[in-house]
Amino acid sequence: MRFPAEPFRIKVVEPLRRVTREERERLIREAGLNIFSVPADSIYVDLLTDSGTSAMSDHQWAGLMMGDESYAGSKNYYHLAETVRGIFGYPHVIPTHQGRMAENLLFTTILKAGDVVPNNIHFDTTRANVEHQGAEARDLVIDEGLDPASLHPFKGNLDPVKLERALRQLGRERVPLVMLTVTNNSGGGQPVAMANVRQVREVCDRHGVPLIFDACRFAENCWFIQQREPGYADKSVREIAREMFALGHGCTMSAKKDGLVNIGGFLALTNAEWVEKITNLLILVEGFPTYGGLAGRDLEGMARGLEEVLNEDYLAFRIGQVAQLAAMLDQAGVPIVKPPGGHAVYLDARRFLPHLPQSQYPGQALVVALYRDFGIRAVEVGSLMFGHRDAASGQMVFPELDLVRLAIPRRVYTTEQIRFVGESVIQLHHEKQRLKGLRLTYEAPVLRHFTARLEELSDAEAAAPAR
Ligand SMILES: *Cc1c(COP(=O)(O)O)cnc(C)c1O
Repeated sequence: MRFPAEPFRIKVVEPLRRVTREERERLIREAGLNIFSVPADSIYVDLLTDSGTSAMSDHQWAGLMMGDESYAGSKNYYHLAETVRGIFGYPHVIPTHQGRMAENLLFTTILKAGDVVPNNIHFDTTRANVEHQGAEARDLVIDEGLDPASLHPFKGNLDPVKLERALRQLGRERVPLVMLTVTNNSGGGQPVAMANVRQVREVCDRHGVPLIFDACRFAENCWFIQQREPGYADKSVREIAREMFALGHGCTMSAKKDGLVNIGGFLALTNAEWVEKITNLLILVEGFPTYGGLAGRDLEGMARGLEEVLNEDYLAFRIGQVAQLAAMLDQAGVPIVKPPGGHAVYLDARRFLPHLPQSQYPGQALVVALYRDFGIRAVEVGSLMFGHRDAASGQMVFPELDLVRLAIPRRVYTTEQIRFVGESVIQLHHEKQRLKGLRLTYEAPVLRHFTARLEELSDAEAAAPAR
């Protein structure tokens, strides 16, 4: 398998500063071994996130010049609304400055304390916005979705049996909506099958509950359906998207993902009553309904990005780049989560660094080494992010998995740069014995991974049996 060739050529370049290993060593030490505190211009390949990091096309940049900055009724709003209706099919389109505001507006309007929101797996901001209303965010992904060894083609599926049970138990009074996240970001960017969407919709219909999509990576999800689900090989990604969204009653969207823009989002809905309430709230916290916290030019970039993301040459390249990096690592014996999802490759840090116990943050040790040795920025999704002290016993509780995410920005890095990432990770895997465990020297009471400070264990400590 070869890396896919770029379906574009380069017109504008952003020079990268060359940073020596010594300088990176100093920078990461000063950052308290926290990759979030390293200046971005000292990074060679930045795989921290695929959110808001896409490269826009010449057509999108040209669209920015067509920005109509009228306070109300900007032509770019009409273009966006028409584009969203064309792809998603929902009549009411409410722009927001990013995805979490779409979530906040929706949940503030329709949730009350004690409600429950089922989802395959809630993304962090979705969960936080549900909980902010005093409601419960309940993850009902299929069991395979939590098993890093399972090769199920649609590990993002929501378990319809678990959903039926929840709805029967709670009743529609306590479940104002069911959500489906496509692709399932927190589960590794795994897709949801059309057959599953249909089953979920049937359960929703039996209980009279609307189905709302978290559509951030909808085009990537529809591409997987075309590639993997029987009966879809001859349908276009656009047709698949229409079919999928016709099974729902609306969506929230962060256009920082499959909108191919650096900022933006929207809410698209069928329920006019919700829309009226949301619009009133939008004016209070975000902006007039035809700009929703964005400039006219941003709306235009988003409208054009939503069309471009459906281009199948682009999707083959994009998902192919992720798949090829995964295949390269897998063939070299590097432990990764399989199969790879649409937007990232996840390294399994516990198997990568078996000599480091979870209490020594193997994922973060890998993140630090990738930056220090190669100038690559990845992010830990493991003991540092989720580890915590149990309130009752005082014992540390560690998550099931210690992962390191390599998220691939859209249209940003060349094949050669991604190959460099693969070769670097493989080299590190050969030299893994030299990686030492870490210890925390500072942690904030909540979301500690963003600001934590750590240090490397000494040789003597590293040699001592793990506590
Ligand atoms: C990024 C993301 C969000 C939140 O969007 P922002 O634009 O970051 O506010 C919500 N859901 C999923 C699945 C996401 O990936």
